[in-house]
Amino acid sequence: MRVTGKRLIHFLDKYGLDYELAPGWNDPRNDPYKGQGALQGIVLHHTAGIDSEAWVIARSAGYPYKPYRACHDLSRRDGSQLIVAWPGAYHAGEGGPLELTRTTPIPRNGGNSRLIGIEIESLGTSARIDGKREGMTLAQVVETSMLCVAYLDAISPVPGVPYSTKRVILHRTWTTRKIDVRQDLDWWRHAIRIARHNRAKPAIARELVADFARDEKSGRLAA
Ligand SMILES: [Zn+2]
Repeated sequence: MRVTGKRLIHFLDKYGLDYELAPGWNDPRNDPYKGQGALQGIVLHHTAGIDSEAWVIARSAGYPYKPYRACHDLSRRDGSQLIVAWPGAYHAGEGGPLELTRTTPIPRNGGNSRLIGIEIESLGTSARIDGKREGMTLAQVVETSMLCVAYLDAISPVPGVPYSTKRVILHRTWTTRKIDVRQDLDWWRHAIRIARHNRAKPAIARELVADFARDEKSGRLAA
């Protein structure tokens, strides 16, 4: 399904995200797929650095893929979001194939045009949700979960019914080349499921995701 920038913004507002639109975020010249991509799911990444904005918006001197951007969204330490690109970006790279659902195969090396990339600002050397630079902040988990619901709603063809959290994967689910993110996939899906289930009341959804991430701050589900 083709999803306009206007539609995306509608869902960011609906779920109360605190976001900024990067210059050129919706400029068709920055879309490697020229509007022909078909977004089906989400990949979670960590930046492996703390000051990634210039890189992801393709402004760093060493960034090799200009003008195409390095993700769709940058999830900052304080939980605010930088909307980097819509609808096209490079982030998944070689990997796959993978069945997101039985009817949604992502072909080998076909992730970039089909998957939304969220870069979470973290050094990525720890799975812990403890606010340290090595891991993530509570606000990042809460707001990234809400952002996933907004994306899953924006790309779903059924009004009022966001796609399932099965459509969320980690970069290391897509390819063994990568280690991001450190938390388990089940852990993230659990957090996003809480957000999705309570989406009619975003303030309550945020509280419940925060409770979960405080209780399970190791980034792994207790057995
Ligand atoms: Zn990654």
